[in-house]
Amino acid sequence: MTAVFFVLGLVFGSFFNVVGLRAPAKSLFAHSRSYCPHCCKDLHWYELIPLLSWLFLRGKCSGCRAHISLMYPAMELFSGAYFSFAFLYHGFTPPLIYSLLLGALTHIFIVSDITSMILPSSVLITFSLCYMLYFLIDPPISYWSQVIGGGVGAGVTAGIILLSRGGMGGGDMKLFGLLGFMMGVEKLFLIFLISSSLGALTGGMLIITKVISGRQPVPFAPFILTGACVTNFYGTPLIEWYLGHF
Ligand SMILES: [Zn+2]
Repeated sequence: MTAVFFVLGLVFGSFFNVVGLRAPAKSLFAHSRSYCPHCCKDLHWYELIPLLSWLFLRGKCSGCRAHISLMYPAMELFSGAYFSFAFLYHGFTPPLIYSLLLGALTHIFIVSDITSMILPSSVLITFSLCYMLYFLIDPPISYWSQVIGGGVGAGVTAGIILLSRGGMGGGDMKLFGLLGFMMGVEKLFLIFLISSSLGALTGGMLIITKVISGRQPVPFAPFILTGACVTNFYGTPLIEWYLGHF
């Protein structure tokens, strides 16, 4: 079953790549077939196999030889690994759906934030509705923690945006609102802590190694969502460990 979930993750992952790439331009359904974004050539079935096609084509489009970013097969691999890990962690229980949705959100937003620095509202709304439906099937311990989490997530980020004059974007604010609603206010603070530490560390390293200049905006959603995934699986023991030591 773990292998089945790995393959499912690869297949869904290649769909999440398409959503992450097309949703910011609102062109999700403009092309029915997958195409090369450089020369607009429609792709054959053998160019659409997750992971393998990229390796087989050595990272180049067969029509125009344009370079295809390593990000796409890497993200497919991420979804494959995430899906099988989530299955091993939860088994066939309702939280498996909760975690798979989080994996899908993570994949789509990492792609859209890196390629266009946009977290599309259409995707945020879709996932908010999915989680509202999920909570009807598997209610949280307290709805208050979810509602307060949503408010605090969006509110604190709005404060940071105002104080830093654009250090984060409106998309980050809505994403923190959604994550606060999904996970509740306690886990939200852990996501804040992990994502800001990871973001500062990575940003600092990129500036020291001169990959980017100090003023260049860095997509922040990958750090937020890494924090959210870690918190989803290990948040409870991490919070208990913290409360026991400090
Ligand atoms: Zn091409």
